[in-house]
Amino acid sequence: MAAPNNPVRSITIVGGGTAGWMTAAVLSQWLSKVKIRLVESEEIGTIGVGEATIPHIRNYFALAGIELRDVLEHSMATFKMGIQFVDWGAPGEAYIHGFGKIGRDMLWLHPHQLWLAARARDPGRVKSFDHYSLNCLAALENRFAFADARNPQSPLADLDYAYHFDASLIARLLRTKSEERGVERVEGKIVDVTKADDGSIASVTLADGRTVDGDFFVDCSGMRALLIGGALGVDYEDWSQWLLCDRAQAVPCESVSPLTPYTRATARTAGWQWRIPLQHRIGNGHVYASSLMSDDAAADVLLANLDGKPLADPRPVRFQPGRRVRVWEKNVLAVGLSAGFLEPLESTSIHLIQTAVHRLLALFPAEGISQADVDEFNLQARIEMEDVRDFVIAHYKVTRRSGEPFWDYVREMPVPDTLAERLDLFRSSGRFFKHQAAELFAEESWVQVLIGQGLDMRADPVTQFVDDDALFGFLDDLADVIGDVARDLPDHAAVIESLLKGAAPQAAPVAPPRMNFTINYP
Ligand code: FAD
Repeated sequence: MAAPNNPVRSITIVGGGTAGWMTAAVLSQWLSKVKIRLVESEEIGTIGVGEATIPHIRNYFALAGIELRDVLEHSMATFKMGIQFVDWGAPGEAYIHGFGKIGRDMLWLHPHQLWLAARARDPGRVKSFDHYSLNCLAALENRFAFADARNPQSPLADLDYAYHFDASLIARLLRTKSEERGVERVEGKIVDVTKADDGSIASVTLADGRTVDGDFFVDCSGMRALLIGGALGVDYEDWSQWLLCDRAQAVPCESVSPLTPYTRATARTAGWQWRIPLQHRIGNGHVYASSLMSDDAAADVLLANLDGKPLADPRPVRFQPGRRVRVWEKNVLAVGLSAGFLEPLESTSIHLIQTAVHRLLALFPAEGISQADVDEFNLQARIEMEDVRDFVIAHYKVTRRSGEPFWDYVREMPVPDTLAERLDLFRSSGRFFKHQAAELFAEESWVQVLIGQGLDMRADPVTQFVDDDALFGFLDDLADVIGDVARDLPDHAAVIESLLKGAAPQAAPVAPPRMNFTINYP
């Protein structure tokens, strides 16, 4: 390994799933003087799921030098404007967690505060919360457009999107880009690991006897965690007391029309089911608690709830919710499933790969490994993962479903203090504050989920100073503008088709309206 003041000049990536190739594509783009090798085993294969992302993925593609057109064409991608949650708050209810900003602030009062105040004064005069977000309404109408930055007063400026993509195709695209930039791919099954005197990793040995060394290793070996867990013995912190789901059955099915620009997550009796629309198929999966449902029963539920004909048999996937207590140890950085996994809800795992790669560049041991850098990396990774954990747990904790052992448990379970405090603040005043830069989810995300799930929340008491005319006038105007604009946006499938034919990505071809509110605020 690179000792203090020994520069890292060679990196070996162990594993070629989404994590391995995402790491290789960015490192090869930015570290041209570093020799990069990636070892993977076709015999072992990849996990093959992980097809929904969040908007930050666009920064990743920019960093990796991958164009929007590449993603659409080579991974059969569609656009994702948010996630629709069905039956989570209570059976029969649905809401959207949309990306992007919601409406407009009234001075410092955020739109959800005005909505909460209006609902408390006259529930009959407010629409459901997703009517005040263009992303949500457009998604529900199967419409899509790029943001229009020319008029910041227009709700078109707030549009935001991520992608759904085919997991194996995206790994292939990333591999092509990486190999074009000089990454050497080594096919073979790792059967042994050799350590140096200081306990760091010196090389890995393949089944045919070849060895691959490196100054630095990125462990992308998935849940096997060959280096960080196996060779270095770094512990895994188990979070299954809050996250009961530990298994999934996954199956693709035929596409149906319309092509929806959002992921759907439907609550089931012992977990939930995902629906991810791609250009050529729909990805489906049923995530469940194996302590409360058998694999066969879970597969039956999945197959009974598909939109199109299944294209394969359901495939089981096991996982253990939790995190690696130190993701960087000696000369090994764990990226991807080897670093931890919560569960697929809110599509955060690929994002965590992306932030790990960014962080590696930001703390790159160009002059050797410094413990201060290692500690900083591990601190940021912990804060980030705990924040994501709390957000995911909130979806379970804040439910009004009852009479099912799974939902009864999660509704009543004690949650981490950090989440309990956040929920208390929401309940008393609808207020939210980010505490650390490494936290992922913004206020918009939290409020959409908590309002959508039906958390009993009071508005900020300051809203009492806003009179009825201003309050309802503001919300009516917002809903009208957003409703008009959403209806004029182009059809999602048509946008993809035109981009694939070579059209340039451009902002929505509708007149950018101004939201022209007159607010009498004391
Ligand atoms: P893997 O894909 O398992 O890759 C491991 C690699 O290591 C493979 O190439 C394998 O061959 C190699 N390897 C292992 N052992 C050896 C060995 N001995 N020798 C040589 N090579 C070896 N994330 C999202 O962001 N959005 C989602 O919608 C989403 N859905 C998910 C649904 C489920 C049910 C699960 C379990 C996960 C989901 N994820 C999702 C997470 C996502 O799938 C992973 O984060 C992503 O695929 C990265 O996986 P990986 O590359 O770390 O592991």
